[in-house]
Amino acid sequence: MKTNTTVDTAKLSLLLNELRLPAIKLMWPQFAEQADKEGWPAARFLAAITEHELAERDRRRIERHLAEARLLPGKTLDTFAFEAVPMISKAQVMAITAGDSWLEKGANLLLFGPPGGGKSHLASAIGLALIENGWRVLFTRTTDLVQKLQTARRDLALESALAKLDKFHLLILDDLAYVTKDQAETSVLFELISARYERRSMLITANQPFGEWGKVFPDPAMTLAAVDRLVHHATIFEMNVESYRRREAMERKRGPGRPASYATPANSVAD
Ligand code: ADP
Ligand code: MG
Repeated sequence: MKTNTTVDTAKLSLLLNELRLPAIKLMWPQFAEQADKEGWPAARFLAAITEHELAERDRRRIERHLAEARLLPGKTLDTFAFEAVPMISKAQVMAITAGDSWLEKGANLLLFGPPGGGKSHLASAIGLALIENGWRVLFTRTTDLVQKLQTARRDLALESALAKLDKFHLLILDDLAYVTKDQAETSVLFELISARYERRSMLITANQPFGEWGKVFPDPAMTLAAVDRLVHHATIFEMNVESYRRREAMERKRGPGRPASYATPANSVAD
């Protein structure tokens, strides 16, 4: 008896297209060769190629999420010197990057501190780590987003613009304080905060904690209401450190061989 061992590979390619299995389509010949050589049982071969397809699918999804997030290039947790901000524990930040404990209930993260202290860096790096853990993030300068939302409001499309942002588990608003007076007047930022309250998380960076926020909203009552919603479920990091760049420049001037001034928490603030 003659068994038919030939496979119509051209047709197989079409079938895999139809099933939308591009990774299997690309890689099955290699897997098949190995399976034949090593005498894998058919079930093992099937498991191997399906696992490969799934892993590729995850990788492509994360790649898409990275592209849509508009993070700051090169700002990672690996390149963030936690010694420079002794008030922030690396362990706490790592726990935050798991996401589930806070993103699921729409809690917020607020980063305060003077310019150059690493707020934007840390915010973007947290965003990156969250994406790698499967979450969707959008990083935007607050004033850019406010402008977009104002345009949407003019076109009577604010609600759908806010709804579109729902797909992001975390919205990073960098530099809240730089919203200008005429931007504040339309209060789209307040609508955004209200829309996401207890549903979707925000990470906000600002040079000033709350005191200056009166400039960001049209009136004191709205400022109060916005702050109230933001802090209701929030983790607050006060990054009251000197500008990282300035410190780096000082370290360079002092020359090698000396410990960095931020080497221990004890001397970091006074130094
Ligand atoms: P902020 O947003 O608070 O004004 P940035 O995040 O823009 O500060 O930081 C200014 C520069 O210094 C950036 O290039 C950033 O990467 C770098 N930087 C700040 N803090 C740190 C840190 N702790 N470790 C490494 N780089 C840092
Ligand atoms: Mg910044």
